[in-house]
Amino acid sequence: MKNQLIDQHPIIGQMAAGEAVFWKNEYYTAYQTDAPDAFLKREDIMEADRRLSRFAPFMESAFPETKAQDGIIESPLVHADGMKDFLGERYGTSIAGPLYIKADDSLTVSGSVKARGGIYEVLKHAEDLALEHGLINPDEDYAQFDSEKFRKFFSEYTIVCGSTGNLGLSIGIIGAALGFKVVIHMSSDAKQWKKDMLRRNGVKVVEHDDDYSRAVEEGREEALRDDKGYFVDDEDSEPLFLGYAVAALRLEKQLEAQGMTVDEAHPLYVYLPCGVGSAPGGISFGLKHVFGDAVHPVFAEPVQSPCMMLGMITGMHDEVSVRDIGLDNRTIADGLAVGRPSKFAGKLLAGSIHSFYTVQDAEMYTLLAELYDREGMKIEPSAAAGLPGPAILHQNTGRPGIRNATHIVWSTGGSMVPEEEWRKDYLRGSRG
Ligand SMILES: *Cc1c(COP(=O)(O)O)cnc(C)c1O
Repeated sequence: MKNQLIDQHPIIGQMAAGEAVFWKNEYYTAYQTDAPDAFLKREDIMEADRRLSRFAPFMESAFPETKAQDGIIESPLVHADGMKDFLGERYGTSIAGPLYIKADDSLTVSGSVKARGGIYEVLKHAEDLALEHGLINPDEDYAQFDSEKFRKFFSEYTIVCGSTGNLGLSIGIIGAALGFKVVIHMSSDAKQWKKDMLRRNGVKVVEHDDDYSRAVEEGREEALRDDKGYFVDDEDSEPLFLGYAVAALRLEKQLEAQGMTVDEAHPLYVYLPCGVGSAPGGISFGLKHVFGDAVHPVFAEPVQSPCMMLGMITGMHDEVSVRDIGLDNRTIADGLAVGRPSKFAGKLLAGSIHSFYTVQDAEMYTLLAELYDREGMKIEPSAAAGLPGPAILHQNTGRPGIRNATHIVWSTGGSMVPEEEWRKDYLRGSRG
């Protein structure tokens, strides 16, 4: 298959050789909100947003760190001039327009972008069960979910998921708080500290010495065997995707508060680290609903794991794996170590992602260290993948085309990383 794909798409030859590449999506097109054949619509995002508001009293009660934001998990939008200067120097280009970082590394409860989708999906499942069994109705106070009565009820039910780490953390933490039994199937990439933290929360962790796709498969089989089992399917979950999409509604308000205009004359470029494609896909889906053709999502992947890019270039989506072109899916960016993309995100967004690029592991370390030196932010390696995006875009598409642009780099994880782990990454990056 490899040679045939390279013949059809020469860039795949560079990808197979482990080079960092940039691909402008040839199928990028005007966005049609609520296209008749779209199976997810604006109203689905609004509904997810309302559900998170209903659960805010529960979140405040179960996770006091969410009180400051009234039980809503949201991250700040941070101006990053220091990083902008660094990128200009390192990549030999001066970036037009302001650079912001959307700091999901600092999200409360589970410290990564998964605190959006993962937590949302578990809350939705809990609500579905509670409604079905007459424990609550939607206009009551959801603080009741933080009670022995509810925990006893949910203790009969199991939630299962397969993860490279952070999804497991988010599902494990919220699932345990609601009283569910939780089983997380972890891929070989998962960091030890993530497994330890889950076990301390009473979560069962099953370790696999294979990659993410296998961990998901095992999890799915286990959940199917149990009639009170529920599987959070990272490869194919609409609730997860919608939980991420809500981010766009929040970002719209934050940009307004900063006095930023977003329209076709003032485009917004958003750089998103991509693993299976659920988080960046859901966020992009939300962004297109809010900003239409004024927003341009750009996806970032490790050179060894460009699954979404490969699926998009070939149009084969989940029918192709990075292993088919000889890549090994090994990367220090554990959150992005995925060889085969989502079953639906790429298909749904085939015309909605502006471009894709890949990053070397060594570069992610350098960017991680530099982000601390310039902005004082501590992130995990996966979260660094979006950082070079504005510079790479300038190099490949030229500056005039993106005059008047605003750039937002999505920083997807970090605040739960133990200090000594973070320091190791920092030292590797600051040496180079
Ligand atoms: C999961 C994750 C991503 C990517 O999300 P996908 O849904 O797998 O594409 C990016 N960064 C971090 C830190 C993550 O944990």
